[in-house]
Amino acid sequence: MPNKSRIYLDYAATTPLDPAVLKIMNEAGERYYANPSSLHYPGQESKVAIEKARQVIAESIQAKAREIVFTGSGTESNNLALIGVTRVNRFKGNHIITTRIEHVSVLECCEYLKNKRFRITYLNVNKLGQVDPEELKSSIDSDTILVSVMMANNETGCLLPIKEIGAILSEQKVLFHVDAVQAFGKIDISVQDLKVDLLTLSAHKIYGPKGIAALYIGNDVSVERILHGGAQERNRRPGTENITGIIGFSEAVTQINEKKDEHNRILNLRNYFEHELKQRIPDILINGVEGPRLYSHSNIYFPFIPGDAMLMNLDIQGIAVSVGSACSSGSQRPSHVLTAMGFEPERINRSVRFSFGRFTSREETEQALDRISEIYQSRLKGIKYV
Ligand code: PLP
Repeated sequence: MPNKSRIYLDYAATTPLDPAVLKIMNEAGERYYANPSSLHYPGQESKVAIEKARQVIAESIQAKAREIVFTGSGTESNNLALIGVTRVNRFKGNHIITTRIEHVSVLECCEYLKNKRFRITYLNVNKLGQVDPEELKSSIDSDTILVSVMMANNETGCLLPIKEIGAILSEQKVLFHVDAVQAFGKIDISVQDLKVDLLTLSAHKIYGPKGIAALYIGNDVSVERILHGGAQERNRRPGTENITGIIGFSEAVTQINEKKDEHNRILNLRNYFEHELKQRIPDILINGVEGPRLYSHSNIYFPFIPGDAMLMNLDIQGIAVSVGSACSSGSQRPSHVLTAMGFEPERINRSVRFSFGRFTSREETEQALDRISEIYQSRLKGIKYV
């Protein structure tokens, strides 16, 4: 859990480990030391523990256990989905459709595939971060083999119309990959209802450990492996399994199921934060607020203060937030997400992401509001913090 003297409002970048997850991982680390590929008893015990965890994760998205492949990160799952599927289907066609607001692990795969003679269509989004399903329909041609669309955006929390897209694609017989890293654990997901062929999950966004993730690969979907080695994960992802991580991931999923009532609490906190901030600083604007959004994210434009200066001032005051996504922050590149949403450069460069989670308290939110207002007012009066 975060140090109480600091206020952590960066849950979209990563979440602290839930103490229950840590406890289970400590026990698992001691007990399941043997290699699950070993034929002896301790090895088989490790294997059984992994399979139990796989079942828990599969059930949470209404999939079958054999459809879950463990990987080392959401990034790796996205790579396996995009590169693995296009390698198998390259003789059927060379066209991929995605959106302009995907995580960098999808966008960079697309750039890689572009260099391998694939054609990429990037769907536009509107000011609410929404793609137009009609634009998707008209982008599909006889060469389209894969569509990859995220379920919720990491910078704004905007939710994309996955069900509608799934219905279009299943009719057109085009494979559908969904990056659900931000949405998983916050909204119920059924791969059956959504008609999804591949779906990316990552443990560290749901109070689980870092370095463990999964890719759902529907039973009838073929994916060529992108790493070469042993036959683990039914030949789809080699390497000795991260048993402790897998068990921690499964416990994080169990905790999510048991703590469903936290959703409303976090939603109320986030809404209280936005409402109060607007009262204190009427100049702010909330990016994507009018559309469907995750309950955890708040992407806010502060006129007059560059986002990175705001981030540093907040950090000095003990509040951890992000500008853009965790991977691109530090690079000083303007957010590709807010750019795609059509905001002007001033708004893009002066926006900050606050994200709330399981351990955020009302008291911390109130303290954060006080400190943010203080920084803003001081800045307006020309008192430089940085
Ligand atoms: N996709 C989205 C939407 C994300 O937010 C992230 C992480 O921030 C990833 C993929 C990558 O996941 P990981 O950090 O497990 O590589």
